[in-house]
Amino acid sequence: MGFLQLNVLNQIEPLAAVGIDLGTTNSLVAVWENGRPKVVHPEGDNGYVPSAVYFPADGAPIVGKEARERAVFDPEHTIFSVKRFMGRGVTDVAEDLKGVPFKAHSGKNGVIEFDVRGRKLTPQEISALILEKCGEVAARATGGRALQKAVITVPAYFDDAQRQATRDAARLAGIEVLRIVNEPTAASLAYGLDQKKQGHVAVYDLGGGTFDVSILAIEDGVFRVLSTNGDTHLGGDDFDRCLVGAALTELSHSVDPRKLDDPAFRQALRLAAEKCKIELSTYPEAEMHIQIPDSNVQWRRRFTRREFEVLTKVLVERTLHSCRRALADAKLEPSQIDEVVLVGGVTRMPAVRAAVQQFFGREPHTKLNPDEVVALGAAVQAHVLSGGTRDVLLMDVTPLSLGLETVGGAVAKVILRNSTIPCQATEGFTTYVDNQTAIDFNVLQGERELAADCRSLGRFRLSGIPPMPAGLARVAVRFHIDANGLLTVTAKEQSTGVTARIEVQPQNGLSDADVQRMLANAYEHAKDDFAARRAAELVTEIGTMLRATEKGLAEAKPQLDRETILDIEDAMKNARNACEGRDARELQRARDAFEKATLPLAAVLMDNFAKKALTGKVIGEV
Ligand code: ADP
Ligand code: MG
Repeated sequence: MGFLQLNVLNQIEPLAAVGIDLGTTNSLVAVWENGRPKVVHPEGDNGYVPSAVYFPADGAPIVGKEARERAVFDPEHTIFSVKRFMGRGVTDVAEDLKGVPFKAHSGKNGVIEFDVRGRKLTPQEISALILEKCGEVAARATGGRALQKAVITVPAYFDDAQRQATRDAARLAGIEVLRIVNEPTAASLAYGLDQKKQGHVAVYDLGGGTFDVSILAIEDGVFRVLSTNGDTHLGGDDFDRCLVGAALTELSHSVDPRKLDDPAFRQALRLAAEKCKIELSTYPEAEMHIQIPDSNVQWRRRFTRREFEVLTKVLVERTLHSCRRALADAKLEPSQIDEVVLVGGVTRMPAVRAAVQQFFGREPHTKLNPDEVVALGAAVQAHVLSGGTRDVLLMDVTPLSLGLETVGGAVAKVILRNSTIPCQATEGFTTYVDNQTAIDFNVLQGERELAADCRSLGRFRLSGIPPMPAGLARVAVRFHIDANGLLTVTAKEQSTGVTARIEVQPQNGLSDADVQRMLANAYEHAKDDFAARRAAELVTEIGTMLRATEKGLAEAKPQLDRETILDIEDAMKNARNACEGRDARELQRARDAFEKATLPLAAVLMDNFAKKALTGKVIGEV
């Protein structure tokens, strides 16, 4: 039994630098793991860190989920949406301050200060607490290593003061900022668009409370913001409000309006509306239900997706209006946009996707989770800035086919390109010559038909096969790609159970450009390749025929006439020559002639075999 471990995974683990999406509603941390970015979650839940800080009467401030829950009962002592106040003066954000339940005033240098339980806290300090919490989440996920370095994202429209405030917050949290990156740039990085030489990208980000659209230019893998537009008060909350409004109108016919003003009821109604909205992204219909205050009555109402789309049409149109202005500022037509990236939870709405697709005239990228895409891109940037390579594809599909070299140099594809991972497939193989006790496997990646034109990912040998005639051994070769893109190839001989395996990282070292080149090559050579593959198969087949014929001649020569023997020897010579030349047509002709010439030999051998079998049987019965 042979277990072959090839050291093809010699990747050096870079320093633990993470990406942080410091959001208005939620903040996310992503780390680099097994060649790709991954969002990590707070202990015990699969959500993110709500960007909220609660100040209890005594004790340390509480950050995240618990703080958001406290906000419902103790709104004065919970600070949220702090991102709206970063680097701004009180006069800049007078409107925003009216909308929040906590108090603020202008401190020194015009910096906003929140008043909480007699303490004065700047937005930087609040953000620092959120960043610290993100650091804890990251540390827990990376096995206790303290977070020291991070890439932090900000909206593209943030000015210098807002960016500086974000840097200061990180410094207060003890985090070294590797770089402040624009959110749309991070989203584009997550999709690997930096691998493009040039082009224009539109990033459409519809979040909980804000809408941003950014037009970026890619120049040699570097992003430049051409324009931004949006609405700082347009987001998922407004979509919820459309349902809340519809519900209140209907309820007001049957319920005392004073009851409907109850804050707890309003909060519950808002949550019911959000739940209904989210379901409508997946199902054509969803039910909104809520307990009527001071009664045991449940109010229920089914909404169809169509109905919801009509209610929210104006909101979607407002976003498109911003897109139009952003394009005008960038002096571009929709047709000049090469890539569209969707960010933000609301872009899961089919109507939003369709509207964006129609507006830009191309299908947007949607494969990554729109809530996470900014954090993922930040982690990519952090990985690169801390010395890692970015030659890894951020796709959860196999970019190229994977297979094995067969005898004669052809390729048997086992997993086809664009298969989503994780995935697995099994192919059967057998021995090629009698008494062969080992098989060598060459694991290949690529679209071409010949092994020599594909990339070899590694070789391994299955030995310990019991001696038996060619073609009798049954070897199952299983290809398995796990969620991290790690490929394990296992070969197992069925009668004895002997097994050998190899692990390889198929994407290792291949850039998007490499993949494109390999694909282009495959298409270009498709016709030649087909002929070459056929030639390889014929060479193999002729090889088998030659060996069988030699064996047959050794046994049955005396039973054949001279003419037949000469014919066979001639055909063998031609076949051998054709194998040297490797021309598919020539090989085919030689093979067919060879087969014809050996027909009399085959007849004699069959006859002998039948006689032997018969004799054996008779003896056996005696
Ligand atoms: P932010 O960046 O402002 O923190 P997110 O990008 O996390 O916001 O988006 C949050 C918004 O997305 C919320 O309004 C939420 O209700 C909405 N949302 C989440 N999932 C879906 C869904 N499947 N369909 C529609 N809206 C969704
Ligand atoms: Mg966001």
